[in-house]
Amino acid sequence: MAQESDNTFSKLKVVREIRINPIVPSESVLVATARSLRPKKEEAPAPYDSRQHVETCPFCRGNEAMTPVPIAEIPADDDWKLRIVENLYPVLGDDRENPDLAFGLQQTIDGYGRHEVVIDHSSHGIRIHEMTGEHLALLFSTYRNRMEQLYHSDDRLKYVLLFKNFGPAAGASISHTHSQIIAMPVVPDNVQAEVRNSTAFYQTNHQCIFCSLIDEALTFEATLYNQRSGEIQRRINVGQFVIERSERFIAIKPFASRYEWEVHILPLLHSADFLNAGPEDMADLARIFRRTMARLNAVIGGVQYNFFFHSLPHGAEYEGSAAAFHWHVEICPRTSIPTGFELGSGLFVNTICPEDAAEMLRNVFLLE
Ligand SMILES: [Zn+2]
Ligand SMILES: [Zn+2]
Ligand SMILES: [Zn+2]
Repeated sequence: MAQESDNTFSKLKVVREIRINPIVPSESVLVATARSLRPKKEEAPAPYDSRQHVETCPFCRGNEAMTPVPIAEIPADDDWKLRIVENLYPVLGDDRENPDLAFGLQQTIDGYGRHEVVIDHSSHGIRIHEMTGEHLALLFSTYRNRMEQLYHSDDRLKYVLLFKNFGPAAGASISHTHSQIIAMPVVPDNVQAEVRNSTAFYQTNHQCIFCSLIDEALTFEATLYNQRSGEIQRRINVGQFVIERSERFIAIKPFASRYEWEVHILPLLHSADFLNAGPEDMADLARIFRRTMARLNAVIGGVQYNFFFHSLPHGAEYEGSAAAFHWHVEICPRTSIPTGFELGSGLFVNTICPEDAAEMLRNVFLLE
């Protein structure tokens, strides 16, 4: 097996270039694939916990009394499929009010918010691609419904972030499969940058930059020649960044992927707000999500990852960006430990050319 993957890697192109993220240009990536340029230490795969039930796990069925009172239990009986509970160690809370302060150059905003845990499944160690499509669709509708309730619960909440950490390097402290919802009084900087830049793109080009990127991924083809020697510098093939396409969604390897195996999933038809996704969207999202996770699992195996949903923030100042912004899910597998160079420069280093990674993911043969 190791032999096989070694051969696969030795066939890959050697690339050394800085790629500018088309949506957030300040988030550039150094794609440096030559072996000698691989200073990165590999992250161990997440220990695969195949246990269905763990006596001491607070998220396992039968141990419901070990968690705070549930916010939701779906369905509301002992046979629940999903539960939402408050996080025992919230990073933001609504239990205490601190005034917003400004002193000298220092400012604080009250850490008001909500931090909740979604217990994704009753089976302890089940992985996303092992869940049924039906279950995943239920999970995504649960995210959506809770997000809506939170936005309506308090005007101070500006953004609801849905995300999942899987594996200790990705920040998961409990091994039972779970995701998190954080409702916060500020819009995260990266989401703000995406909204700001896509709005500026819309003003100049009268189209959504995400829709344009999807179009480009599905139709663009080009050959670039060296003007002096006439040698081919680069060939861009149709669909080379596409991993999967379903009726309503597309899974794409970003051209400037920060992480070696990063994949984004976007609705094919323009939509700014995840809250607009209906039951048919959820069923189709579940399908493409499972297949994408199965591909990742086949190529990199038991990987640690984060995924997060980026949707248009709520509030009057964002209403004008509905035509410009396009909701999406970013899946970021953690296969290497960030180096001092990356942390100090803010420049991500990716050691596998995104086109090659896309091809390897596409080439996985899925049984269903
Ligand atoms: Zn458990
Ligand atoms: Zn769009
Ligand atoms: Zn995003």
